[in-house]
Amino acid sequence: MLVGLNEQNELPPHVAAPSPTAPHGPSGLGGGVGVDRVPGLGHSGGGSTLLGYIGIDTIIEQMRKKTMKAGFDFNIMIVGHSGLGKSTLVNTLFKSQVSRWSSGWGSEHKIPKTVEIKAVSHVIEEGGVKMKLTVIDTPGFGDQINNENCWDPISKYINEQYEKFLKEEVNIARKKRIPDTRVHCCLYFISPTGHSLRQLDIEFMKHLSRVVNIIPVIAKSDTMTPDEKNEFKHRVRKELETHGIEYYPQNEFDDDMEDKNENDKIREAMPFAVVGSDKEFQVNGKRVLGRKTAWGVVEVENPNHCEFALLRDFLIRSHLQDLKEVTHNIHYETYRARRLNDNGGLSDVKVMCQFPLTL
Ligand code: GDP
Ligand code: MG
Repeated sequence: MLVGLNEQNELPPHVAAPSPTAPHGPSGLGGGVGVDRVPGLGHSGGGSTLLGYIGIDTIIEQMRKKTMKAGFDFNIMIVGHSGLGKSTLVNTLFKSQVSRWSSGWGSEHKIPKTVEIKAVSHVIEEGGVKMKLTVIDTPGFGDQINNENCWDPISKYINEQYEKFLKEEVNIARKKRIPDTRVHCCLYFISPTGHSLRQLDIEFMKHLSRVVNIIPVIAKSDTMTPDEKNEFKHRVRKELETHGIEYYPQNEFDDDMEDKNENDKIREAMPFAVVGSDKEFQVNGKRVLGRKTAWGVVEVENPNHCEFALLRDFLIRSHLQDLKEVTHNIHYETYRARRLNDNGGLSDVKVMCQFPLTL
């Protein structure tokens, strides 16, 4: 069940304390040409002549302020069978106990009879920017003897979030900012067997890659030697290709050559072989997150030890916004178009819009 946070992230009607000359209204640049004085910019010329500064570049600062005020939603789903280190990895990623099930694993851990969907939300703040992070766990996935169609509840959950968003969108009195519960990214944990993907891995990714951004990762990679790891990664990539499984970042959605070059490098390095831990150790006088073994500490953030840092940088520092955009522009759009077509409108969407929808 989704643990709802209050909606404190709603955009207030007037964002930021506007300067007397700052453009107002949703168009942002609407009346901006008359700017003759933008405080604090310190550019040469003062902008009062016809050839002077207009201030278009302040849009970046305006957007930054709005984002800071409003915060943003990021929803990440974790899938893979029990004990693969899903909860630990998410906690390592966000440096906190964001997954409720992090510490409870052990002899008492009960394996659910069917796949459950559990979403927990947290607000994380860094540098004045608020992120409402929702971690959607799927305990029970892959744990049964017969795992046939065990992705059904997961796929249903993903579609339900699209439906929720769609209903909000067509509401006459729709919210200025629709709460976004759509799954932006699904981390799929592959067991570090060193052999090949299981049938279930293939089936899951095949079905779900059409509706959500799948990022496959090799779990607990500290259990493999570097050679085994590289060979396994290579094999997994080949198998994904053979089965036509498109994981994120999908080739077809590269924006331009620069994007393609950057994403090619990422695709060649995937699936990232990760290690998670919430324990700190002292290594060369520094405290690091790691796993202590008889031979030393496996440092989670050390790129020579595993690819956790690569995954973290990719997921959060370079592609977070893109994950949200692909979810909205591709996956949600596909759902929305299908839904509108199927229904010849939105007959069973409760609150009807009286105006034609702009598609
Ligand atoms: P989940 O069931 O997939 O959520 O798995 P947990 O995160 O609860 O972890 C299961 C067990 O594996 C715990 O004892 C963790 O300490 C351990 N574990 C988690 N991540 C790793 C890892 O990267 N490597 C190793 N060797 N063990 C891990
Ligand atoms: Mg767990």
